[in-house]
Amino acid sequence: MSGGAAGGGTRSGNGPSQSVSDDPHADRQAFSGVGIRELVVLEVRFAQEGSATPHTRLAGVHLRTFLLIVVSAALSATSSDDRNNRLGSRQRKTHFPAGLRWPGDSLRGSLVSQPAGPGTPGEADRAPDFATLFGRPADLTSSAPGRVNLIGEHTDYNGGYVLPTVIPQKTFVEIARRRDRRVSVWSGGFPGDGVVSYELGSERRVGGWLDYVQGITWVLGGAGHSIGGIDARITSGVPVGSGLSSSAALEISLARGLREAFGLPVGDVPLALLARRAENEFVGAPVGIMDQMACLLAGDRHALFLDTLSLAYESLPLPTGAELAVINSGVAHNHARGDYRTRRAECERACALLGIRQLRDVGLDDLPRVAALPEPLGRRARHVITENARVLMAVEALRSADCECLGRLFDASHRSMRDDYEVSVPEVDLLVDLARGEPRVHGARLTGGGFGGAIVLLVETGHAASVAGRVADSYARRSGRTPTVLVPPPADVGA
Ligand code: ADP
Ligand code: MG
Repeated sequence: MSGGAAGGGTRSGNGPSQSVSDDPHADRQAFSGVGIRELVVLEVRFAQEGSATPHTRLAGVHLRTFLLIVVSAALSATSSDDRNNRLGSRQRKTHFPAGLRWPGDSLRGSLVSQPAGPGTPGEADRAPDFATLFGRPADLTSSAPGRVNLIGEHTDYNGGYVLPTVIPQKTFVEIARRRDRRVSVWSGGFPGDGVVSYELGSERRVGGWLDYVQGITWVLGGAGHSIGGIDARITSGVPVGSGLSSSAALEISLARGLREAFGLPVGDVPLALLARRAENEFVGAPVGIMDQMACLLAGDRHALFLDTLSLAYESLPLPTGAELAVINSGVAHNHARGDYRTRRAECERACALLGIRQLRDVGLDDLPRVAALPEPLGRRARHVITENARVLMAVEALRSADCECLGRLFDASHRSMRDDYEVSVPEVDLLVDLARGEPRVHGARLTGGGFGGAIVLLVETGHAASVAGRVADSYARRSGRTPTVLVPPPADVGA
C-alpha cells in the first residue's frame, strides 16, 4: 500500500510498480477478475496466521493495483458523475472518475434547510420553541446527521482509508442573526442549562457542551471569516457519546448554519477541516477528519469512501439487499483521553521504528518487517495495515453489491480490533458474537474508537429492527448491561 494522491496524484516510493498496466480500466478488470471474495479469504487467513505468506504477496499486488486504479482514475477518467450537484459552474475542466472529488474542487454545498424536527421522540413536545426562547422566529435551520463507520477503524489518524455512512438521526440548529456580537444558545440535550451566552472573540473553554459551539465560532473567527452574533436553538436525535458522532453533527450543523447566515465563502472540505480544528484545538479532543467529512458529505443511504491523507472522497450507494443496525453496549467510552491516546502514541512509535512518516506508508508487503517490531507495536501496526486493505476490499464489495463479502470484512475487522489493536472489551465481543449467531446477519463489528461503545451489523433488508431487538435482549440477559438499539431509530424498532 502506498502514499497518498493529494492534489491529483503524488505517490510514495512504495506505490504500484511500473509493470502494472498504465490503463486503469484494464487494471480494474484484472482486479475484478481475481474476485473480491478470494482477496477477503486471503486477507482473513493472513490476519489469523499473522505471518507473511504468498497469500499476502498476492493480496498486496492486487491492492497496489487497486490503488493505481484509484489514483490513475483520478487523473485520467473522463466522466464526472456529480451526484451531489456541487461542482456547478466553477467545475474544474480536468476529468474526474465517477463520484470521486478532490479537496481543491470542493465548493460551497447548498444548505439543506429542513424543518426543525424533534431530535428524540417527544422532544419537540417538551422543548420550548425558538420564539419562546428568543422572542422572534429563526432566520434559518441547518442540519447534519450522525454517522457510523462501516469499516476503517483507527486508520484516520494514520493517514489511511475510512468508510463511514450517515445514520437517520440528525442535529438541527435554528439560527437568528443578532445586531451585536453576542451568541446565545440553547440545547435540547442540556435543557437544564437554559440559554447560555458569550461574546464573539471572547471564547473560553468551559469544559462542557458549549465548547463545541464556541469552538466553531472561534475557529471561523480565527480563519478570518466575519460572523456576527446569533441566537441559536439546538435539537438532536443523535445519541450523545455513543460513537455516532453527535459532536461532529453539532459542529457541522452549526458551521453550515453560520456559513448560510453570514454568506461565508468557505467550501465543504475546508469547513470540515475547520470543524475538526475546533474539536482538536478548542475542545481538546484528538479526533481525525472522518467524522466531520462524513457528517458533511455522505448522502442518505450512501457510504463515504474517504482517503484521509489526500481527502479525496467518493460517495457509494449502500446495497439495497442489506441495512444497518447499531447497538450500543452500554459500556462508556471516552475518546479524549486514556487508551485512545495510547494507541495513537503506539502508532507513532511504530512509525519511528519503521522509519516512516505514518502507517499509511506501508502495506501488506511490509508485514514481515512490521512483525519484527516489539510487542505490542507489531500488532498495532498490523491492524492499521490490514484494516486499510479491508476498506479497499469493502469498497469493491459495495461496488458489486456483495453483502456477504462486506459482512465477512466486518467480522475480520472486529477480530483485528479485538486481537491486534485491543480496543474491544468483553461486553462488545459478546454483542458481536450474539449478532453473528443470527442467520440474517452478514457481519458485525465494533464501530468507533472502542473501549466500549457500539457495534454495527449488516443485516438482510427488512430485518434490522427485529434482529437488533433480539440481539439486544439476549445481550442484556447475558451481560447485565443495558444495551440501546440506536439504528434503526427507536421508533422503528419492532415496527
Ligand atoms: P460522540 O461524538 O461519539 O457522540 P463525543 O464525546 O465526541 O461523543 O461528543 C459528545 C459531546 O458533544 C457531548 O458531551 C456534548 O458536549 C456535545 N454535544 C453533542 N450533541 C450535542 C447537542 N445536541 N447539544 C449540545 N451539545 C452536544
Ligand atoms: Mg465525537
